[in-house]
Amino acid sequence: MAFKKSNYDPTWKEEIAPRIKKRDGFKCVNCGVKQRARGYRDKFDKWVECDAFMEDWAKRNGIKIITIHLGVAHLDQDRTNNDDNNLRTLCQRCHLRHDHPHKMRERFLQQKFSKPSPTNAERRIETSKAKVIFPPNI
Ligand SMILES: [Zn+2]
Repeated sequence: MAFKKSNYDPTWKEEIAPRIKKRDGFKCVNCGVKQRARGYRDKFDKWVECDAFMEDWAKRNGIKIITIHLGVAHLDQDRTNNDDNNLRTLCQRCHLRHDHPHKMRERFLQQKFSKPSPTNAERRIETSKAKVIFPPNI
């Protein structure tokens, strides 16, 4: 689903999301990383927080350093359901992983039930038909 700001409560950004982040201790409730932490995930997917020295070492070794930006996820994917029990603070990775199966399901349903967009060849045929049906006024 494309990002639709209108789905969110008008107080989402200023009130709801900050309140939930505070409730969850400004940490991802799934993996425990803290807001604005800097570091990387190792080959076992474990978070490695970096101080300035380690960050410098990591960069020299080609490791990409990221900054954690916490978000608040709707567990049921319903952006209008702002019940506290439906909201969890998650890091980018955990948020994407949480949303992934829902997005795949949505994409599958869209493909299954929507008319496929016409190919260029089909568009050309439609255009040529239109010329026959609607001749230009002389
Ligand atoms: Zn996380």
